[in-house]
Amino acid sequence: MAKLEKKKLFNPNGDTDVLQWKMIGGNTTNLNDFNNMKYSWASDWYRQAMNNFWIPEEINLSQDVKDYPNLDEDERNAYNKIISFLVFLDSIQTANLPRIAEYITVSEINLCLSIQTFQECIHSQSYSYMLDSICSAEERNKILYQWKSDEHLLRRNQFIGNLYNEFQENQDAKTFLKVLMANYILEGVYFYSGFAFFYNLARNGKMPGSAQEIRYINRDENTHLWLFRNMIKELQKENPELFTRTMIEELKSMMQEGVRQEIAWGKYVIGNKIKGLNEDMISDYINYLGNLRWMGLGFNSYDSQYENEPESMSWVSQYSNANMVKTDFFEARSTAYAKSTALIDDL
Ligand code: ZN
Ligand code: ZN
Repeated sequence: MAKLEKKKLFNPNGDTDVLQWKMIGGNTTNLNDFNNMKYSWASDWYRQAMNNFWIPEEINLSQDVKDYPNLDEDERNAYNKIISFLVFLDSIQTANLPRIAEYITVSEINLCLSIQTFQECIHSQSYSYMLDSICSAEERNKILYQWKSDEHLLRRNQFIGNLYNEFQENQDAKTFLKVLMANYILEGVYFYSGFAFFYNLARNGKMPGSAQEIRYINRDENTHLWLFRNMIKELQKENPELFTRTMIEELKSMMQEGVRQEIAWGKYVIGNKIKGLNEDMISDYINYLGNLRWMGLGFNSYDSQYENEPESMSWVSQYSNANMVKTDFFEARSTAYAKSTALIDDL
C-alpha cells in the first residue's frame, strides 16, 4: 500500500477551496481559518473543548489525604496500579496525537487534536497532583513507573503501544486507520474499569477528590472518543476502499482484543477484592462498552448478550455522565467551567 505523504508545513500552493479538502492525502495550507471549516463536527468539538477547560489543582483533595492511609491494602494497591496505567495512557496519547496530526490535511481537525493533546497533558498532571497530595515523593515515583516492572501492566500497555509504534514505522492509509482505531479503543474502553474503580470508592465514601478529578478526565475522554469516532466515519466516507470486509474484521478483532485485555486487567487489579465491585461486574461492563463502541462506528452488534448496560453497573453513569452531573459535581469551585453539556451522550 502506498505511503501517506506527511503534510507540507509551509505550503502557499495549498487548496483554499473547502470542497477540495480531505482528511488524508489533501493539499492543505495549514491556515487556521475559523470562517471556513468543512467538517461541522470538528468546529462543534472545538467550541465544546473550549468550554471544558479545567485545572486539576482547583479540586480539593484534603479528604483524600486523610482517606488514603486508611484504605485497605487491596484498595490502595488497586489505586496505585490504576493510576500507573492511566498515567501511561495519557502520556502516550500526548506523544502520539501530534504524530497522527502530521498526516491529517485539514487544519480544523488538527486544531481539535492540539486541544486534545493539551487535555491529555492536564490529565497526566492530575495524577501527579493526586500522588503528590496523598503519598511521599518516593512512593509517587514507584507508582509512576510501576508499568515498567509489573508484568501485567507492561503486557497491558504493549498492545496499544505496538499499534502506535507500527504507525511510526509504516505510514500507509491502512496503518493510519488502525492507529485511529487504537485511539478509539483506548479512549472508549481502556479507561473504564479504572474510572469505575474510583467512582466505586467515592460511592463508599472514600477518596472523593480523586473521583472528582476522574469525572473531569472522564468528561474529556468522552469527547475524545466522539472526535475519533467522527474521524473514522469521515475516513469511511472519503476513503471507502479502505474499509474492505477483511479490514472491518481486523478492526473488530482489535476491539475484541482490547476488551479481552481490559477485562483481564480488571480481574488482576480489582478482581473480587474490592468492596462494591467484582469480576463479573467488570467483565459485563467492559463487554457492554466494547460492543457499544463498535456499534457507535455504524457496525452491527457483535454480541447480543451485551447490548444493554448491565444493571449492576448502572450507578456508574451518576458519576460519568456529564449531562447528569453538571448541576452538582461540576459546580461551585469553578463556575467558569462546564458551561455546556456533553456533545452527545450515546458513547
Ligand atoms: Zn486523557
Ligand atoms: Zn483522551
